Amino acid sequence: MSFNVAIDGPAGAGKSTIAKAVARQLEMIYVDTGAMYRAMALYMLREKVPLQDVEGIVRKCQYADITLRYEDGVQVVLLNGENVNGYIRTEEVGNAASVVSPICEVREKMKRLQQALAAENDCVMDGRDIGTCVLPDARLKIYLTASSRVRARRRYLELEARGERGDLARIQADIEERDYRDMHRENSPLRQAEDAVLVDTSDMTIEEAVETILRLCRQRM
Ligand code: C5P
Repeated sequence: MSFNVAIDGPAGAGKSTIAKAVARQLEMIYVDTGAMYRAMALYMLREKVPLQDVEGIVRKCQYADITLRYEDGVQVVLLNGENVNGYIRTEEVGNAASVVSPICEVREKMKRLQQALAAENDCVMDGRDIGTCVLPDARLKIYLTASSRVRARRRYLELEARGERGDLARIQADIEERDYRDMHRENSPLRQAEDAVLVDTSDMTIEEAVETILRLCRQRM
């Protein structure tokens, strides 16, 4: 049976950076499930399906073939065969992802793919419902969070590093709105699994958070 680590939490808590580092240290694959929802959102935006048109999204989602490939340990997201890594990291796609992700048909499709990856590989998987729905038997579950203020600041600095300008108050408002949607949807809402360990990174460096999770992993190996 494979050794799976589930990391859930709100946007901007540092999940992907931390999960990636943990996976590298443990020589496991890293599965970024948010990227899969982002690829689905990108597909709907490209196909000009209005995001409020749930039926349209349900109809179209069967034509979006989303797969993951690993090149030199880096996850590549393929949307109908095209590498879309370069298109899914915008705020527009992130917000659209949180609008398409509550839809049952979309989640079922993603869940099947995620479970297959976890069954075949030791992996660190991050998302919103990994510990609660996708991998309820994961060996270790982490709920990673930070205050919305700290998370907005991190996003702001990330944009700045890419040479883009952001509005801090706007980013914080978007993050809070996205948290609200993710936590209050009917389908697989974001919540801490009962057996998940809470790690609050508001006052932690990346290295400290990685070390904390590695320690927990080693205890369970
Ligand atoms: O983590 P990331 O910001 O890339 O995720 C984008 C959106 O995809 C989230 O706001 C959430 O709505 C959705 N998502 C989800 N379940 C996951 C991962 C992401 O619903 N496992």
